[in-house]
Amino acid sequence: MSYPLTEHIRKEKRPFVIAGPCSAESEEQMQVIAADLARDSKVKLLRAGIWKPRTRPDSFSGIGQAGLKWLVDAGRQNGLPVCTEVANREHVEDALKAGVDVLWIGARTSVNPFTVQEIADVLRGVEIPVMVKNPINPDLNLWIGALERLEKSGIKELTAIHRGFSIYQHRKYRNVPNWELPIALKERFQELPLICDPSHIGGKRSLLREISQKAMDLNFDGLMIETHPSPEQALSDAEQQITADELNDLLSHLVLRSAEIRAGHAETIDDLREKIAILDDRVFELLSARMDISSELGHFKRDHHITILQTEHWKNMIDSRLNKSADYGLTRRFIRQVMDAIHQESIRRQTKIMNEKEDQKR
Ligand code: PEP
Ligand code: MN
Repeated sequence: MSYPLTEHIRKEKRPFVIAGPCSAESEEQMQVIAADLARDSKVKLLRAGIWKPRTRPDSFSGIGQAGLKWLVDAGRQNGLPVCTEVANREHVEDALKAGVDVLWIGARTSVNPFTVQEIADVLRGVEIPVMVKNPINPDLNLWIGALERLEKSGIKELTAIHRGFSIYQHRKYRNVPNWELPIALKERFQELPLICDPSHIGGKRSLLREISQKAMDLNFDGLMIETHPSPEQALSDAEQQITADELNDLLSHLVLRSAEIRAGHAETIDDLREKIAILDDRVFELLSARMDISSELGHFKRDHHITILQTEHWKNMIDSRLNKSADYGLTRRFIRQVMDAIHQESIRRQTKIMNEKEDQKR
């Protein structure tokens, strides 16, 4: 019988915690971290990377096959099932042979349908849970596609891991969370367990708490957090790993709010939601009226050979709205986002009107 990951995730008290080093580095490191993690029963699954998909060729690229035994032994001796990343057919074969309980597909692999298919093909007929990290680019269908390829191969135990999305030089995150993607995934596949990986989203220790808390507030099922006996000395991802003690501290400070609405609270919440629904109706009615004026403007510009966009005007208009942010009680950032969306739609409508005329001429 394979390890019933999904059942455990559902049954355990949230969050289901996966922890362990970014990479297996030595037998001793694996023994020490497994014992440290097992001391507190919160950790349910031990992780370690054996083959590391590194961005630059000179980085530590994992210990390779020899590390599988260290991982499996460390898990068995400390009562923890184990998981590792696989990125091709050989990795899967080696991991299965070594007795790894759960596999995961990394972000640099889930981005490539050929590789995902290769992995799905070797796994045909194998009973093992597979966790699929989001692809490095924010493409929900690609993430879903990877899960579907495995499902079609007969993998029944699937779990999704949200690890954020690559972006050039982000000020805060190593990988931007784009929380709307995992939320959309959850909406489409309500039964699919969803784990957050704050280590790779944050890229630094100081962000782990905030990201983990956010994941809990968004009702994620679990967390995957990189832990190392001496994080500063880690051969990969040293800035984001924490010790087992630090992990326990983080977990014990998480505020776990209930996703279910209790009977006594339902009335207030329904009331407030009803008010919001009424206001949303008004917001969209107003937007519709605004777009009608954009269309009128489009007809006028078309008939008088005026370009759709006058940059100076747009700049002045956005400034005038931003300057009222205090009056509206809204942040400048939010006003900017809403105005950008409105402007894009307005340009789309006007472009359509201009092209109608061109089509008629032909
Ligand atoms: C990892 O978990 O160590 C890893 C390489 O993750 P990702 O695929 O999210 O980069
Ligand atoms: Mn890592």
